[in-house]
Amino acid sequence: MMKIEEIIFRERENFNIHEYAFLKPADVIFSDEVRMFCEKNGCGMHGTSWACPPATGSVAECRKLCNKYKNAFIFSSVTKLESSYDIKGWRTARITHEAITDKVVKIFRREFKNPLILSTEGCTVCKKCSYPDNPCRFPDRMYPATEGFGILVMQQASLCNMKYNNGPETVTYFSMVFF
Ligand code: SF4
Repeated sequence: MMKIEEIIFRERENFNIHEYAFLKPADVIFSDEVRMFCEKNGCGMHGTSWACPPATGSVAECRKLCNKYKNAFIFSSVTKLESSYDIKGWRTARITHEAITDKVVKIFRREFKNPLILSTEGCTVCKKCSYPDNPCRFPDRMYPATEGFGILVMQQASLCNMKYNNGPETVTYFSMVFF
């Protein structure tokens, strides 16, 4: 067992990680179809920050970058909603997930040089993103979107024996680390 696996195993409950898996970048599922969804802009984040396409580069470029790493890690968080229309709950879920991601990132950055972090859609660090006129202000805090990288999170979760959906009144979010 790698040291990082031991650390995550130990911290899982403490961090409130729901499920996780370690895998190889070669087993990560990339798809141009996901990018087509991005381009349709269902989430409204396309072209609004350095964390989303087109700023992330083509799917082929994203894949190449991920494949430079030896290992990958994926984890999920689950937040309960009061109802499916609980907009505030959705926001809270995202903030909660990003807070877990920050804790996970701290560990990976301590243990590995320059890990690549992917998280939820868009970037909420600055009130107004500097994209496209100026470089990202906080490249260390900006985690590109997993789907924006062309990763098929739904299939990826299932390949890793993780649940993509944890029930009607819950939100499940995913992040990935390449290291
Ligand atoms: S950290 Fe700020 S400048 Fe960088 S992508 Fe996020 S919102 Fe934009």
